Amino acid sequence: MTTITLVQGDITRQSVDAVVNAANSSLLGGGGVDGAIHRRGGPAILAECRKLRASHYGKGLVTGRAVATTAGELDAQWVIHTVGPVWQGPGSDSSLLASCYRESLRVADELSARTVAFPAISTGVFRWPMEEAAHIAVETVRDTEAAVEEVRFVLFDERAYKAFAEQIR
Ligand code: ADP
Repeated sequence: MTTITLVQGDITRQSVDAVVNAANSSLLGGGGVDGAIHRRGGPAILAECRKLRASHYGKGLVTGRAVATTAGELDAQWVIHTVGPVWQGPGSDSSLLASCYRESLRVADELSARTVAFPAISTGVFRWPMEEAAHIAVETVRDTEAAVEEVRFVLFDERAYKAFAEQIR
């Protein structure tokens, strides 16, 4: 059984086996969580991302999929990069957002990671409404069979924390 925990804070400060990155398909860095992970994790992460681009991920990472690299200098073993969908307005298809959580957990299981920190994927630059994103995130983790012991949602601000807390009451 996977236990869900919530903390308000910076995902790059977590001590966990794997940190999930809200990456973009280029795998070559960006803003938000992505920028913070590469800044604190150092150049080893980008170096592995470049190798992925040069091998199996020539066109980058597809939305809804996940792939792992070293976590560099973060207090973690791995960064699991996943690409969330951009919100397209009311009625947006949430299946790719759910897939990010499912695929990241699948990769975490492959690595035998026991503790995994997730950000609120797609709720930044990709504009997904926080309440809806929180619902999809929690529901998907609950519905996914995984050996991971703890999924820790790391919410950057109080608004995000409250939205997730609503979902696990
Ligand atoms: P996306 O492109 O998937 O929308 P972002 O990185 O822009 O990803 O934002 C995802 C969420 O992560 C947003 O709610 C944002 O406030 C939050 N966030 C940004 N930096 C951090 C951080 N260092 N730790 C945890 N959450 C963060």
